[in-house]
Amino acid sequence: MKRFRSILAFSLLLFPIAISSLMAQDNLKVKGILYSSHLPVEINIKEGYISSIRPIKNESEKENLPIISPGFIDVQVNGYAGVSFTDDGLTVEGIRSAMEGLWKEGVTTFLPTIITASEETAIENLQTLSGSLKDLNIAKSIPGFFLEGPYISPIDGFRGAHNAEFVRPPDWNEFSKFIEASDQHLIKVTIAPELSGSMDFIDQCVANNIMVAIGHHNANAAQIHEAAAHGARISTHLGNGCANTIHRHDNPLWPQMADDRLTPTIIADGFHLTPDELTVFYKVKGVDNLMLISDITELAGMPPGEYDWNGKKVLLTPEGKLRLPELDVLAGASFSIRKGIGNMMKFTGCSLEQAIQMASTNQAKMFGWNDRGSIEVGKRADLVLFNVKNSEVMVEKTIIAGEVVYNK
Ligand SMILES: [Zn+2]
Repeated sequence: MKRFRSILAFSLLLFPIAISSLMAQDNLKVKGILYSSHLPVEINIKEGYISSIRPIKNESEKENLPIISPGFIDVQVNGYAGVSFTDDGLTVEGIRSAMEGLWKEGVTTFLPTIITASEETAIENLQTLSGSLKDLNIAKSIPGFFLEGPYISPIDGFRGAHNAEFVRPPDWNEFSKFIEASDQHLIKVTIAPELSGSMDFIDQCVANNIMVAIGHHNANAAQIHEAAAHGARISTHLGNGCANTIHRHDNPLWPQMADDRLTPTIIADGFHLTPDELTVFYKVKGVDNLMLISDITELAGMPPGEYDWNGKKVLLTPEGKLRLPELDVLAGASFSIRKGIGNMMKFTGCSLEQAIQMASTNQAKMFGWNDRGSIEVGKRADLVLFNVKNSEVMVEKTIIAGEVVYNK
C-alpha cells in the first residue's frame, strides 16, 4: 500500500477539494429543491443545526436550484484515493485526506473499515483512527469504526479478498483489545456465524453495544437464524463475500433474504450485483430494510491499471471494476455511494427519495445517529446539494454541521 502514498499527491491534484470554509459559520441559508417533496425551499441553519425550512414563493428564486438531501452515510469505507484504513502506515493526515475526498462525493458520515489483518495492525490502526477524532472536523464525519473480519470464513470465495493468513475464529479477549485501542469507537463488526464461539461472541457484542453483521460466511439456515436471534442485525454486502457456485437450496442467500431481522447492506456499483439481484433485494427487503454501502477502497479515485495489493495483483478497469485475478474475486469497489444512488433508481425504478433513504436515513436509524439522516428542524445540518443527469448524482456542494466542506 505504501507505494500508493507517492501517488496520493497526484490523485489529490486530480480531485481538488474546495473547502470554502472550515471556520465556524453561525448562520447559513441554503436554497434547493427538497429531495422528498420536490418543493423549492430555503433551509436556515443556526450553529450547525437546521432552524427552519421555508417554502420559496418568489418565482425568480426557484430557477436553477439544485436538489437538496441529507448527507450520504456510508457504513463501509475501506479507504479512498491512496489511503487504506488497513494499511500498516495509516496516518491522521491519510484519514483526513480520505475524508475530504469523500466529502466531494456527498458523504458526510462514514465508518472507516479495517479488514482482516494481524492483531498488531488492527490495534495500531484503531489507535490511529481514535487519535484522529481529536480533530473535531474528523469527529463530525466519523462516528465510529468497523472491523470486517478477521472472524470470517477461511474458505476461498466466501473469504473474498481477505488475507487467508490472518483469518481466525471469534475471540472476545482479542476483540476487547480492539475496543480498547479504538477508545470505545469500534461500533460494528462482521463475523461468520458458522465459526465456533460465534453465538457467545454475538452476545458479548450486543451487551457492549457493538452492531453485529454477518458476512463472508457459509453458514447454514439454522446458524443464520440463530445469529439473528442472538442479535445480529445486518447482512454485510449481501450477494457478495460468497462463493461463485452454491447449492440451489442450501446456500447462505435464501435464509438472509427470508429473515426480517437482517437488514442487508448492498453494493450498487453495477459490478458487485446484477440489476436483477438489486431488484430482488429491493423487492424482498423493502426500502426501509436495505442500506447502500460503497465498500470503496484506496484504489478509488486512481487511474485504471494494475496495482499491488498486499502482495497480490489487482486490476482496476477503465469502467471502475476492481478485480483480484488470482482468486477470481472482486477486491472492493471504486465508486462511492453516490454512484449507488443513481444505480438504484436506474435498476430498480425506485424514487430519488427512496434511494436517499437507503443511502442515509436507514443508516442513521440503524446506528442511532438521531441528529442526522433527514432534513428536519433540529437536525444537524448535514446536507448535499446536487443535480441528477441520466441517473447520475452530480454533487455541487456538501455541508456538514452547517459548514460548507465542499463547493464544486
Ligand atoms: Zn467484504
